[in-house]
Amino acid sequence: MEAFKTKIEELAESRKITPEFLDYILHQATEEEREILCAKARKTAQSIFGKTVYLRGLIEFTNYCKNDCYYCGIRLSNKNACRYRLSLEEILSCCDKGEELGFKTFVLQGGEDPYYTDDKICELVRAIKEKHPSCAVTLSIGEKSYESYQKYFEAGAERYLLRHETANEEHYAMLHPKNLSGAHRKQCLRDLKKIGFQVGCGIMLGTPGQTTAHIYEDIQFMQELQPHMIGIGPFIAHKDTPFHDRPSGSAEETIALLAVLRLLFPKVLLPATTALGTADAFGREKGILAGANVIMPNLSPSNVRDKYLLYDGKICTGEEAAECNACLRGRMKKIGYEVADVRGDHPDFI
Ligand code: SAH
Repeated sequence: MEAFKTKIEELAESRKITPEFLDYILHQATEEEREILCAKARKTAQSIFGKTVYLRGLIEFTNYCKNDCYYCGIRLSNKNACRYRLSLEEILSCCDKGEELGFKTFVLQGGEDPYYTDDKICELVRAIKEKHPSCAVTLSIGEKSYESYQKYFEAGAERYLLRHETANEEHYAMLHPKNLSGAHRKQCLRDLKKIGFQVGCGIMLGTPGQTTAHIYEDIQFMQELQPHMIGIGPFIAHKDTPFHDRPSGSAEETIALLAVLRLLFPKVLLPATTALGTADAFGREKGILAGANVIMPNLSPSNVRDKYLLYDGKICTGEEAAECNACLRGRMKKIGYEVADVRGDHPDFI
């Protein structure tokens, strides 16, 4: 136990981890050891952010997608998905509701939907910024050209989420069809950073074929990229995908990885994701107690929520924005945390 404690202190001090220790933490550590890790990560997060949690209002504005990622429920080939797009007015009304509830960040997420041309995305971003000038706009709409990203930035979007999914090219090919490459996705992240976005990368834990060596490569990629946010959630199978019968990722391992990431990247924005809340009823609370500091409640209109299904069993699909908001604030309070109604930029951007 003392030896483990020392290793955690060393990890926090050096901000480095060996593949062997990563594997030990993910697969062999005892419950007591994991609690030592989480306590250290929690303290680290609190030393930077206090006992506060930032909210991001997620608006899932289209589930049309031209890609065919093997894990994803809204993949092109899923003929059972009931497709929808939100109009500009509907999106703006989500934001209005969001600001009333105290949200200062809106995340527009969707499939890669060619209907939304660059002009349409820019129009959307401008309209939101005009009505809500004190709020941040995050885009999460996949791989685009440098020029497109530049246009979105100039229209006023300031953050972009694009999980790299896996840094290992062979593993990437196990999860995606041939027309997609990990190298291109990584290049997109570098482009986004260069343009000046606050960027979020990330992975799913427990995807088919994933090994600890892959996760180690992911960490190395993150150390090179130095993202502002890291999104981590367990892989959860969707019934209408090629991975329908694959086992889901573990909530415990996800929580342990969140804690490791907090120690390696003390200032990073780290969400306790909806997928984690789906894999474990208290996953988001446990994530916060392991060093996460962001929650992304759903702001999508309730009539489309059960259509943006990336995986089976997604929580909060039957609720209204106000209910989710009240529920999450209550959940945070119960564990001694307060939701801060601020934009919640990365510390380097303040
Ligand atoms: N089209 C956008 C948004 C993708 S959805 C893009 O390409 O970035 C956001 C994230 O959900 C994905 O990056 C992926 O990591 C995660 N996701 C997709 N399918 C999932 C599944 N079956 N289980 C858990 N997470 C999943």
